[in-house]
Order: sequence, then C-alpha cells, then structure tokens
Amino acid sequence: MKLIKRRIILLSVLFLSIILIENLNHYGKSVSNAAKAALEPTISTPVFTPLKSLAVPILIYHYIEYVKDEKDTIRKSLNTNPYLFTNQVETLRNAGYTFITASDLIDILEGKIRPPKKPVLLTFDDGYQDFYTDAFPILRRYNVKAVVYVVSGFLDMSNYLSTLQLKEIAKSGLVEIGAHTVHHLALKGLNSELAKSEIEESKKTLERLIDTPVVSFAYPDGSFDKTIEKLIQEAGYRSATTTLHGLEVNMDNRFALYRLHPGDKTGNLLLNFLAQK
Ligand SMILES: [Zn+2]
Repeated sequence: MKLIKRRIILLSVLFLSIILIENLNHYGKSVSNAAKAALEPTISTPVFTPLKSLAVPILIYHYIEYVKDEKDTIRKSLNTNPYLFTNQVETLRNAGYTFITASDLIDILEGKIRPPKKPVLLTFDDGYQDFYTDAFPILRRYNVKAVVYVVSGFLDMSNYLSTLQLKEIAKSGLVEIGAHTVHHLALKGLNSELAKSEIEESKKTLERLIDTPVVSFAYPDGSFDKTIEKLIQEAGYRSATTTLHGLEVNMDNRFALYRLHPGDKTGNLLLNFLAQK
C-alpha cells in the first residue's frame, strides 16, 4: 500500500512539473513574441483604393495684402486683400471643406491616404513677401494647409520671401513648398536645356534650403505643353498646376492640374462657383 501511495505521489509531482514547464515555455514564447512585435517596424501606412478621378477645387492666389500704391494696377489685379482672404477661408471651413496640400492630393489619388471630406487646395504663386507677412498668419490662425510655389532665383530679393522666411514657413508643417522655376520663365517653346535646368535647379535649390523633397510644381504664366510635362515628370515632381479652369483631378492630368480664380467671391457665391465648375 505504502509503495502504491508513494508511486501516486511521485506521478503527481511529475505530472505537475510537466504542466509547470509547459506553462513556463508558453509564457516565454508570448514574452518573446511581444518583444519581437515591439521591435519590428510597424507597417502602419494604410492603403486605400486609389481613386480614378475626383473633383477638387484648386484655388490660385498671388498677392495677399493691402496694396499701398493705388497706381500699381498689376499688383492690384493679382491681389486678394487679407480681409477678403480671411472671409474665403472661413466660407470654405464653415462649408466643411478640408484643406490639403498638392502632395496630399497625389497621395489621395495613389491610395496612400484616405480621401478627406470635400478636399480643397489653396495655392500661392511666386513666393511674394506678403505670403509671409499677410497670408501665412491667416493660414496659421485657421490651421489651414496650403502650397506656395516659389521662384527660387527671386528669394531674398525685395518683394519676395527671404530664405529665412521660407525656412520658417516650411517648418510649420502647414505649408508645402513647391517650385515655380528659377527665373519665372514661360516654359513652352523654351530651349529644352534651359527648360530642364529651370525645372531641375529650382527643385534642387529649394530642397537644399528646406531639407525636404520638393515634389510639386506650378508653370509660370501657365505656360506648358506635353514636352514640358515630360520634363516635370522626369525631374521627380509628382504634380504640376496650370492656369486652365476646371475641377477634375486624375493620374492622367496630374502634370496639368486645373485651377480656379476665386476673385472677390465669398459666401454662397464662392461655394456655388466651386461646385459648378
Ligand atoms: Zn508666377
């Protein structure tokens, strides 16, 4: 009897030990799996179905300021005063628009980011000084994204952004810096070497200054053709905007994107204008 008892005890101890070892093993495994998961890079970029085509109003602006010289008719014709611009931003925001950058737009087309509700893109050409003094504070106040297309060769010249201002704008995370050639040359029909250099050098100079890839472009005077579009693509840009009017955005026209002049429209006048185009 004693022997049987002893055997039962021995077997029980053995059985319990096996269970204990199994559990320890399992615990060890889950710990090492958790540690592995923590070390592995998270593949968090969600991939959404790329959109074939979408309607996005891309608004074009030049100067945003109170023009001091009443005789400066060119400036006045290209200007939107800050009060009016604020009103337009408020109109769009209150109507539920989502402000995106040109890069965001291509990311949406490629399915890299989720398409936002009612996307709209504000673009500012030439990189004038007043972008920093007048437009940028308004964008910051309303937390509105935008793109400024900078003429790299005009930086630090009077009337244009300084290098320091450009860097500050780029660092804000709110404004994408795009290129607009080195010397604001109309590209269509230009000697191809010169066109290539204007397209490539403006990109390189801006990238060096802001330490960020520059992938968006605007054609000076809206001047382009198929040859220029090809040069833009080959230089590594992801999109280019024109001065042609329309709303449609797709992978086929991303190097010839339409834009709209909001003019002095605000409220429903502006909203109807954007919806009807
Ligand atoms: Zn321009």
